[in-house]
Parts: sequence; C-alpha cells; structure tokens
Amino acid sequence: MPRNYDIAELKRLDVAHHLPAQQDYKLIEDMGGSRIVTHAEGCYIHDGDGNRILDGMAGLWCVNVGYGRKELADVAYEQMMELPFYNTFFKTVTPPTVMLAAKIASLTGGKLQHVFFNASGSEANDTVFRMVRHYWKLKGEPKRTVFISRWNAYHGSTVAGVSLGGMKGMHAQGDLPIPGVEHVRQPYWFGEGFGTDPVQFGKDCAAAIEERILEVGPENVAAFIGEPVQGAGGVIIPPPGYWQAVEAICRKYGILLVADEVICGFGRTGEWFGHQTLGFTPDIVPMAKGLSSGYLPISANAVSGDIVEVLKTGGDFVHGFTYSGHPVCAAVALRNIEIMEREGLCDRVKNDVGPYLAEALKRLDGHPLVGETRSIGLLGAVEIVAEPGTNKRWGGAEGNAGPVVRDLCIENGLMVRGIRDTIVMCPPLIIERSQIDDMVAMIARSLDEALPVLR
Ligand code: PLP
Repeated sequence: MPRNYDIAELKRLDVAHHLPAQQDYKLIEDMGGSRIVTHAEGCYIHDGDGNRILDGMAGLWCVNVGYGRKELADVAYEQMMELPFYNTFFKTVTPPTVMLAAKIASLTGGKLQHVFFNASGSEANDTVFRMVRHYWKLKGEPKRTVFISRWNAYHGSTVAGVSLGGMKGMHAQGDLPIPGVEHVRQPYWFGEGFGTDPVQFGKDCAAAIEERILEVGPENVAAFIGEPVQGAGGVIIPPPGYWQAVEAICRKYGILLVADEVICGFGRTGEWFGHQTLGFTPDIVPMAKGLSSGYLPISANAVSGDIVEVLKTGGDFVHGFTYSGHPVCAAVALRNIEIMEREGLCDRVKNDVGPYLAEALKRLDGHPLVGETRSIGLLGAVEIVAEPGTNKRWGGAEGNAGPVVRDLCIENGLMVRGIRDTIVMCPPLIIERSQIDDMVAMIARSLDEALPVLR
C-alpha cells in the first residue's frame, strides 16, 4: 500500500531543493513543484493529487514488464543479502553478472557474444566512443576517429552522448558536440520527405551517409551510430530498405555499425532487439531501459567477437565504472528477462498488441489535427498538423503542438510525451487491448480539446 505522504510539503521541498532532469527550473517553481508520483501497478501510475494515469510511456520508455512485479523486488532483496556489491576491476566478477552477460549474448546472437556493463544508456554510448577509438588504434588505423550520426538522434546526456546525439538544443548547452562527430539527415519521411516516394527517400538518407564518409575520408571514419527507430526524436520509423542500405555502406568502407537499442531493445519492436525486427547486423549494441524494465539502473554493450579479439591485443582497456556489472542490477535484469520469456512478451508485441496498436491508431486518421499515425511494435506516434492530408504545422513552422496535446492527454488520464508537433507513446508490453482502446480514446478526446486551443 502507498505511504501517506504530505504532498504539499513534498512539492515545497521539490521547489526548494530538487533539480529535476531535463527541466525548466523556473517553470517547475511556477507550477508549485513537480507532479509527485507516489505508486503504480500494472500499466497505471498514481500521483499525490489522487489521479490514476494510464502510463503510455512505460515510465521513460523502460517499464516493459509493467509496475508492481514482486519477484523483481524479491530477487533484489535476496541478492542484496547475499552480496549487495562487488566490482569487476579486481579480476573479480559476481555470479549474476556473468549469467546476465551470457543471457544477453544468447539474445543478441550471431557475432555479438561479449557484453560490457554500465549503469545508464548514456554511459553505454560513452563506452562505444572509447571502445571504438581504442579498437581502431590497436588495429593500426589510428586516423579512424570520426563518428557519423543523425540530426535529431538521441544518444544520451553525457558529453559523448550529447555529442553523438543530434539534438541542437542540447548541443547549444555546453559547447557541444566535441570534435569528431558528424551529423547527417535523418530518415524522417513525414517531416522531411513528405510527398516523395518513401523508399527513395530512405535511400537518399542512406546516401547522405556515404556522401559524408567520402567528404571526411573513409580512412578517418570509425563508426556510424543510429537508433533502429529514433525514440526521443519522435518515434521515427525509417522507410523499408534504409537500414540495409546503411549496413551496405558501412561494410563497403569498413566502418563499424552501432545500433543504439536503449529504447528498441527488449521486445519494444516485437523482437528482442530493433535490429532483428528491421533486419540488419550491427557490430556493437548499446542497451539499457528494458534490460531491467527500469527497476534498477543497468545498461550493457553487446560487442562482436572481432572487436574483442583486437581489444585483447591492447592490455588493459582502461574504461569502466564502479557499478559496471552491479550484482543486484544484474540479478534483477536476469529475472526481468525470465519474466519476458515466460510471458512471451516479444511474441505478444509482434503478433497481438503491436498490430492492435497500429489498427487502433488508425481510428485517429481523418481527425482534423492528424497528419499521420505510425507505429512499430509498441512504439507509436501521432503527427499533429494544421491541415489534414498535409504536413503543414501550426503557425506554419515546426512548433509546439505536441506539448499542448500532451498536457490535455495527461489531464484526461493518459501519460504521453509531446515532441515538437508529435505525441509519442511507448506503453508497457503487458498492456491489454482494452487499455489500448482507452489510450486512443483519450488521445482522440485530447485532440478535440486541442482544436480550439491551437486555432
Ligand atoms: N540512447 C537512447 C536511444 C535513448 O533513448 C536514451 C535515453 O532515452 C539514451 C541513450 C540515454 O539513456 P540514459 O538516459 O539511461 O542515460
């Protein structure tokens, strides 16, 4: 049962002392403090004002098995009592860490047989940065230092994460990106290719990568990094053939291919990993979020055997964190994967609730504010436009319609995210069809209510 909190006092303390992530502190102050989320079960969160909200975002793209899984709490308790912590610096490791590495290797399969642990998605991408550059030096190609990424990609909030990412607003804070990262166009058909043939648009976006490689000089390019489906950028699903073209370009120039699966991993797109759904084979796979369903912070990089063979020639790889391979996080992640397997959650997304979400979102087509609905597995988006049948935005330019509709959705009992002119959703993989119906009904109502606000 939830504890009896003094919500007004917590809000006061929030304003006085807490600096939340990715927030406008003045806005939080003007609001009188953040929403206090007190407890949750299944697909619902509850706040201190007594609201029960359907969590269309699975926390922050992570609570794949839903809230209230006692067995995850039990396994954390057991592991804490047996061994709450030990490191992997001292030629030591703990049983859950080794078992989780082997489990992940079995899920990624193929050449991705080695696993490096960190605590967050951002750290996983810092690991990519250092490991890839170290690899090329050891391989005798020290000039290969440049990473190619996409505008509007999200790869985290650390210096390397923001630099690899393509969020201009994030670059502006902290004088980023650091040197050695090149950004190319994203395969965002609705936003940037509307009216053209989607497959050709995807090919053109892949060709932009090759053009940049040639500009930079292939001998200087270390890796291409991309999310199989861009999440924080607005659930951008690339056109068919895009990833196959990207993979062919990487292979042509001997460039490593990194699939950032921090959101797409662990069943989100209907397979264990997004690259499996989209049909390409990366060399390194950063993953986090769904790995533990967010119950504890843990991330990992699955790495190909070819890379590890080269790393073996270099002595110590002087990289890693206190919490790399944390035994409690690893034990929880292992049990989380066991739950996903036992309940067949990937299959459920692929063959049941994923297709159902796509169908349900179609009910919004034809709404005067809807330009497109799209989804893959349980990742969905609704594009908000000023004129149906077009991609014209409110105010004539890319704007802020997403947050307007998001706020109305939350008032109506649904947590979604508003990204520019898009609302996105990513519910727990246990969501029922009837809850998807509720979700879409709440979006429809919120869109109706947004009409007079946006006009
Ligand atoms: N990579 C991707 C694709 C993400 O979506 C995120 C977070 O949303 C990250 C990296 C960063 O993960 P974290 O917030 O755990 O550092």
